[in-house]
Amino acid sequence: MDLLDTLVAKGLSRELPTREEAIAVLATSDEELLDVVAAAGRVRRHWFGRRVKLNYLVNLKSGLCPEDCSYCSQRLGSTAGILKYTWLKPEEAADAAAAGVAGGAKRVCLVASGRGPTDRDIDRVADTIAAIKGQSEGVEVCACLGLLSDNQAERLRAAGADAYNHNLNTSGDNYAEICTTHDFQDRVDTVQQAQAAGLSACSGLIAGMGESDADLVDVVFSLRELDPDSVPVNFLIPFEGTPLAKEWNLTPQRCLRILAMVRFVCPDVEVRLAGGREVHLRTLQPLALHLANSIFLGDYLTSEGQAGQADLDMIADAGFEVEGTDRTTLPQHRTAAAGHGGCGPCGGEESSSCATASAPACAPAEAATDAGPTAEPVTAGAARTDLVQVRRRGAGTDLPPNA
Ligand code: SF4
Repeated sequence: MDLLDTLVAKGLSRELPTREEAIAVLATSDEELLDVVAAAGRVRRHWFGRRVKLNYLVNLKSGLCPEDCSYCSQRLGSTAGILKYTWLKPEEAADAAAAGVAGGAKRVCLVASGRGPTDRDIDRVADTIAAIKGQSEGVEVCACLGLLSDNQAERLRAAGADAYNHNLNTSGDNYAEICTTHDFQDRVDTVQQAQAAGLSACSGLIAGMGESDADLVDVVFSLRELDPDSVPVNFLIPFEGTPLAKEWNLTPQRCLRILAMVRFVCPDVEVRLAGGREVHLRTLQPLALHLANSIFLGDYLTSEGQAGQADLDMIADAGFEVEGTDRTTLPQHRTAAAGHGGCGPCGGEESSSCATASAPACAPAEAATDAGPTAEPVTAGAARTDLVQVRRRGAGTDLPPNA
């Protein structure tokens, strides 16, 4: 296909595709899907080989947010039955982080709900970073605390943070449809503050919120312009109790096309497969490893992910390898330009972002959890509320985390 040959050539030379080419990727048919994955996979392997970086989320403060992001189970007015708790103590966060590091994660993403941190919150996070780095040598730490005020990014950097996550989530034109308490430019400003302070920027998107193909392409082009080091791609988990609870409009094939488009537009950045992968990609998750070079290990902020061992098995079975702390994630031309200490490319989670990890308090609806021989076939794009599990273990509970 001429389109794919063109996109591979551009991806290998870091040339920006046209918007029309990016939209054309999203418009490819299911019959063309493996060709699309193979083409974007060439770009992925060129810049990142077969390495998969593992990242681990620690939700420092959960729920009770005054903002109204419609996709978020922690939003103002959310009735999702998520865990709600205030700041973890530094040692509690460090213990949770250590479980992720022991499971193979080289980055820990510290996330807190809320519009943005107070200066006292920055002190708390600084203490937490110190506790984590004291306990887990060589680990990268990314903070995701919302909108930053003057000098807060510099204070996080001085405290040892390697990266800062703040997702753009959707296009500037669509932003008012998903949130009214802050705007797109607020988010751009925070990412730029982090970059100016020497933090590796992590910023991504959420797909499946009812946006158009043009919106998806627009937000990815905005990200390319912003030039974060890592781009988490989240797939909306439609939590019961949030305004987007009925937005079940993704299929595994659609998710792969979105990831391929992101890889073509942002060829040499860490593209992270983030929240919603288990729910929307389901059995096609291994194909996504040909597109993304990074995933979250274990649970998300408010929802449970698949078992950490299942992730490790999937990576090995698909012929990929977990990236060790001795490897730098990003290509040399990006780390040389960034000048971040020697932490490698730091750059970013959540989707970690407070925007992603969501988890609904779903009712098992009509779906059967026993997919035995008499189970009905699953319709692509159907609501899979049975796959959404509210997090009930790890940070904020007495149960050990999933890693
Ligand atoms: S995404 Fe972040 S800022 Fe928005 S409602 Fe959720 S926790 Fe609050």
